Amino acid sequence: MPTTYAYAARSADTPLAPFEFQRRALRELDVQIEVMYCGVCHSDLHQARNEWKNSIYPVVPGHEIVGRVTHVGSGVTRFKAGDLVGVGCLVDSCRTCPSCAEGLEQYCENGFVGTYNGVDRVSGDITYGGYSTNLVVDEAFVLRVPENLDPAATAPLLCAGITTYSPLRQWGAGPGKKVGIVGLGGLGHMGVKLARAMGAHVVLFTTSASKVEDAKRLGAHEVVISKSPEEMQAHANSFDLIVNTVAAQHDLNPFIALLKRDGTMTLVGAPEHDHPSPQVFGLIMKRRRLAGSLIGGIAETQEMLDFCGQHGITSDIELIPMQKINDAYERMLKSDVKYRFVVDIDSLRQ
Ligand code: NAP
Ligand code: ZN
Ligand code: ZN
Repeated sequence: MPTTYAYAARSADTPLAPFEFQRRALRELDVQIEVMYCGVCHSDLHQARNEWKNSIYPVVPGHEIVGRVTHVGSGVTRFKAGDLVGVGCLVDSCRTCPSCAEGLEQYCENGFVGTYNGVDRVSGDITYGGYSTNLVVDEAFVLRVPENLDPAATAPLLCAGITTYSPLRQWGAGPGKKVGIVGLGGLGHMGVKLARAMGAHVVLFTTSASKVEDAKRLGAHEVVISKSPEEMQAHANSFDLIVNTVAAQHDLNPFIALLKRDGTMTLVGAPEHDHPSPQVFGLIMKRRRLAGSLIGGIAETQEMLDFCGQHGITSDIELIPMQKINDAYERMLKSDVKYRFVVDIDSLRQ
């Protein structure tokens, strides 16, 4: 196995820095991938800084990965050298529990193996993600990337795309449905594009007045500044579904009040500190539902990539060299990115 060049966090309070290691030798069903591009998810920052209290250092983040297959194990049937592929947040699961049997590996009852900061089920080694020159993954967790899409702008679909696609499908976003997306960041801007392509009426909620025109360009029919009680009140009791992507603790009550009877708000944002518990009466008086959703399974991720291929949907990205990752994290914290950083992994090969 060639040396893998990467960037890693070595502790919660030190910047990411160069790190070298070796990937495992190919197992029978493994695919070796030369990483081309890796998106920068807010979850990478949460985990590099141990905000979810489960990081094992060094952490090599990155789970929005697009690359080319270079080698395959002796038993691999679905991929060959040269294929354009993607890897998202999952690289393994137990494959036998009821959730795995339903293709919902992200809810594996025995614990899925994350692309980074996970524990390999065979060797017990900690997994290292896509801020690296190559990757070795079981073919069952490798996705096909449509060749008609720009590969750099496709990388964010592997997490930001599927994390918004899955709840939009689960709760029936489509024609005749009013769908809200809260937060115009990496996840939120994909949520807007996907909900629009599914045929829903899309309303984007933002705290940033500077993003209003962009949100419309990206596909929102309406944009609401969530800090304005008047603008919020105008949408009271009207939403079928709200997908909340906000990466920080905030008051959920003003959004719950916008759901119609039997409407659902699903949380996908995963902040370091929990939101304050919402008012009970806001839920019970209209049988409203507060839900959560975690990324998506492998089959649904492939469905999402194919949907994006058919509709020409990719992420709006800012391409950066790996050496700029620490600046990118600081800018992400200030919501200063339009709308996803993607690392050009060639910058690690020089
Ligand atoms: P991001 O690009 O940083 O976007 C988050 C957006 O939230 C910001 O652009 C901003 O939008 C809004 N926001 C940030 N701070 C806020 C505050 N204090 N009050 C109100 N709004 C605020 O992050 P991301 O990569 O999209 O990830 C979003 C969250 O989802 C993260 O917590 C991440 O870990 C989580 N995540 C969850 C899953 C899952 O499976 N459930 C998967 C991936 C990521 P505006 O400027 O428009 O207000
Ligand atoms: Zn992510
Ligand atoms: Zn399982």
